[in-house]
Amino acid sequence: MSNDIEISVRSPAAYALAGEALRLMQDHGVWPTPLNYELWLHVAGDPDGALAQEINRLVKASENITEEISESLAAKFIARLKVNDEVRDAGLKLTRELASITEVIVEAQKAQKNYGETLEGARKTMSAVDAAALKGLIDSLTTATNHVLTQHSVLEGRLSESSREVTRLRKHLDQVRMEAMTDALTNLANRKSFDESLDAHCDTDDVTKPLTLAVIDIDHFKRFNDTWGHQTGDQVLRYVASVLARIGRPPRMAARYGGEEFGLLFPGETSGTVERLLNEARTEIASRVLKRRSTNEDLGTVTISAGIAQRTHAEDAFDLLDRADKALYLSKNNGRNKVTVAENETRGSNAA
Ligand code: GH3
Ligand code: MG
Ligand code: MG
Repeated sequence: MSNDIEISVRSPAAYALAGEALRLMQDHGVWPTPLNYELWLHVAGDPDGALAQEINRLVKASENITEEISESLAAKFIARLKVNDEVRDAGLKLTRELASITEVIVEAQKAQKNYGETLEGARKTMSAVDAAALKGLIDSLTTATNHVLTQHSVLEGRLSESSREVTRLRKHLDQVRMEAMTDALTNLANRKSFDESLDAHCDTDDVTKPLTLAVIDIDHFKRFNDTWGHQTGDQVLRYVASVLARIGRPPRMAARYGGEEFGLLFPGETSGTVERLLNEARTEIASRVLKRRSTNEDLGTVTISAGIAQRTHAEDAFDLLDRADKALYLSKNNGRNKVTVAENETRGSNAA
């Protein structure tokens, strides 16, 4: 699911959006399968988006939206499904690899069994042996030994080939997993990854080690986009992300939380330290005169607002995030380009 839809399905508008998706499916004679539901949720959530436009084009061309068409639309327009496909593909390759190793092992076991039977036959004929029979016996033992050796070297070759393939697939899966946790535009962690990390950090009653969360939002970004265009807006998002990435190096974490919002997590650090760091970032961003890359045109400046909350008791992720959000809201209400720390009693700080 795209970030925007992820946010919408957890907002007050969620049920209206779900209803619209169902209505659209019914109108277009499409079954409400899980895949179709996700697809049409995107259409309902972004009626002018590329997916909705493609569906309109198909409908105009009198195409029925068959399950096959739905699957190919989902693969093309919904990134997560692409990731799932890759994981499924890698899984199938691993299964095939294991099946082929098993076959080779079974063959090697058969050869080993035949070899044992040959030895047993030899032992029985040993007693009544003459020179010619002995030579025949040695020949058959040599043939059996060579056969077993060949089987073993085939097995060895296949095993090292398979181990290379498994290593390659594992690296590929690591890459796919990494991509699934990363925001493609800014290269920061994405919301899913940030939420998981926040949950993990809040999953303890021990508050002797501090934990501080910051949420950051670009001020009047809609106005910036409207003035300079979405693509230039994207470059600004990347710039702000790069400043935050510098602050958010591990064990801290910086993520794009959605649209023009970012989250930063500071394990082991207090709100005082984070406030100082974010005020530095805020000043750095506000004082940078932005230029359009292609023309060097002066775009003015952008500012950010932030809300900070330190986990003071065994608070869960939801409540901590809520306090940080409320502090951000105060920063916005107090004129933007501000950092506000939420405490028991929220207080403003370091107004620009
Ligand atoms: P505020 O100071 O209250 O935060 O005002 P704002 O205009 O930043 O907030 P608002 O929520 O009204 O608008 C957010 C804008 O962020 C709308 C949208 O155009 C822009 N935006 C969200 N995601 C992206 C993106 O991926 N790229 C670009 N260029 N713009 C985005
Ligand atoms: Mg916002
Ligand atoms: Mg904003």
